[in-house]
Amino acid sequence: MMRRLQLGNAAAVHLPGGRFMLDGGTMFGVVPKALWQREAPADAHNRIGLACNCLLLEIGAERILLDTGIGERFSARERQIYGIDADETLRSSLATAGLDPADITTVALTHLHFDHFCGCLIDGEDGPEPLFANAVHLVQRGEWEDALHGRSTMKSSYRPDDLQRLAEQIEVRRIEGEYRIAPGLTTFVTGGHTEWHQGFRLDAGGHTLVYPGELVPTRSHIRPYWNMAYDMFPHQTLTAKQAFLAEAAATGWIVAWDHDAATPWSHIARGDSGFFAIDVEAL
Ligand SMILES: [Zn+2]
Repeated sequence: MMRRLQLGNAAAVHLPGGRFMLDGGTMFGVVPKALWQREAPADAHNRIGLACNCLLLEIGAERILLDTGIGERFSARERQIYGIDADETLRSSLATAGLDPADITTVALTHLHFDHFCGCLIDGEDGPEPLFANAVHLVQRGEWEDALHGRSTMKSSYRPDDLQRLAEQIEVRRIEGEYRIAPGLTTFVTGGHTEWHQGFRLDAGGHTLVYPGELVPTRSHIRPYWNMAYDMFPHQTLTAKQAFLAEAAATGWIVAWDHDAATPWSHIARGDSGFFAIDVEAL
């Protein structure tokens, strides 16, 4: 089902960018399995199901894509390890939304881990080529450099050869800090997951929609200590996430989840025992 929000003259469309699986323990860091498995049941390999939720923002004539999901260029072995569902791809989601990849004017990436970046490339006759041939691709300069040099707690999360292939064929604009992508749409650096990981904020039609990426990847990660073992700077995630959720709850933001398997976006509320997610009514 295609989900869409109308925010004044702008619109946000949920574009599923693939489903895959990761170890539940690494997704919840210090949280015991006895707790996390209640809401994220593990399979026989201890993996839990995750979505790659990409967002299409329509702002004037601009068609801006936030993250590109896991892509299609995986070996049989990788498909097995990551439990990748080959049927649901960003390309099929775009087609369902009535869009052609050539319509996309900007691709903005939270960071360059494979499950956010790999949808930028497809297999061409001479190797990988950009799927979004008319789009400028935006990433933080520091993230680009860390990815190329493998500066990560898990080097295998980055695909430096693919990054270089992309930059040889299309403009990859390395931005620094806060950056205005389009009217009402800006980036903000979150840190935490990677040093230069960024989120996106759209103010339109009296609403604010925020895509915080890995700062809060699913509704389960709303709790303070439910953070990924993949994070480079766990304490920064803890503090930045609390500040983010406090603002989201106080000002009524719509928060879009990059990996929640069940819903692409929620409102945040604050109760006696902390923050929680509530459904967004149709806009
Ligand atoms: Zn990541």
